Amino acid sequence: MNVYFVGAGPGDPELITVKGQHLLTIADTIIYAGSLVNPALLRLAKQNAEIMNSASMTLDEVIAAIVRAVGEEKLVVRLHTGDPSIYGAIKEQMDVLDARGIGYEVVPGVSSFLAAAAALRCEYTLPEVSQTVIVTRLEGRTPVPEREKLAALASHRATMCIFLSVHMLDSVVGELTAGGYPEDTPIAVVQKASWPDEKIYRGTLATIARTVQAAGVDRTAMIVVGRCLDGGYALSRLYSPEFGHMFREAK
Ligand code: SAH
Repeated sequence: MNVYFVGAGPGDPELITVKGQHLLTIADTIIYAGSLVNPALLRLAKQNAEIMNSASMTLDEVIAAIVRAVGEEKLVVRLHTGDPSIYGAIKEQMDVLDARGIGYEVVPGVSSFLAAAAALRCEYTLPEVSQTVIVTRLEGRTPVPEREKLAALASHRATMCIFLSVHMLDSVVGELTAGGYPEDTPIAVVQKASWPDEKIYRGTLATIARTVQAAGVDRTAMIVVGRCLDGGYALSRLYSPEFGHMFREAK
């Protein structure tokens, strides 16, 4: 295999997988996804590796670079932020490689919505609070199907991780409230989770927009909403003494 789509993780260069890190050290060509990839990861590259920033490239140019490198029998790492399956525009690249008969492998990464949970020290799936995590975004240049509008998703009152939307926080709050989240629902904005300059803003649907706007946060941030950010929950059955399972008998 000569082409690897690799998840770089959320920012902290130690949050890439061992496999991804190894591939970076042996790659001949690295095409990385702009400013969200920590430059420290690129320093793992061998000295004569060719390194390209895809922020200034079109899809065709990215593909052309991969195809050329493969033709020269080079090992190519296409480095995506977080995990490539989440808003990574990876499918359109894989489809072209499929059509050309070029093989590839995908190496997953730690998505920023998981780094945000770690930063918030929260559990998204609290018993009797929510057992569902919704990963979504507000509509931007990329349209969102009508049935997935934020207000419709909000009716579940599940834990929600909202990408790519902090610059429209007013609209996010409006849709969440319209969809059924009470105004006192806790919400947090995690900017640059796992980076040295990570920042956390907490509030409720009633207060968060003012707090975040005052701080001037308008990009690279995760919005997390739901009662899981509150104190209350039921203890998990997994570790409860009355609950036996394959590896432990009930007492
Ligand atoms: N594939 C990436 C997401 C790419 S879309 C992943 O799995 O994380 C880019 C969006 O991801 C940003 O607008 C922001 O909402 C979020 N994001 C990426 N890195 C982040 C980080 N370190 N902290 C908070 N949000 C982040």
